[in-house]
Amino acid sequence: MSTSEPVRCERCGRDRAEDTDAEALAWASDTDDSGTHWLCPSCARRHVRDIEGKLPREYW
Ligand SMILES: [Zn+2]
Repeated sequence: MSTSEPVRCERCGRDRAEDTDAEALAWASDTDDSGTHWLCPSCARRHVRDIEGKLPREYW
């Protein structure tokens, strides 16, 4: 695992290098054709809520 690569949150621009080790582990990465996208823990939580909020009511 490379730690020298700069990682920034795609949504709020937070710098992962400035997080504590424990928080850095909570970052979420998503890889697609255009590369790897990172979300900081707080944005990742919000993102998960967005996904849940968009679920059709039939799922409940
Ligand atoms: Zn963020």
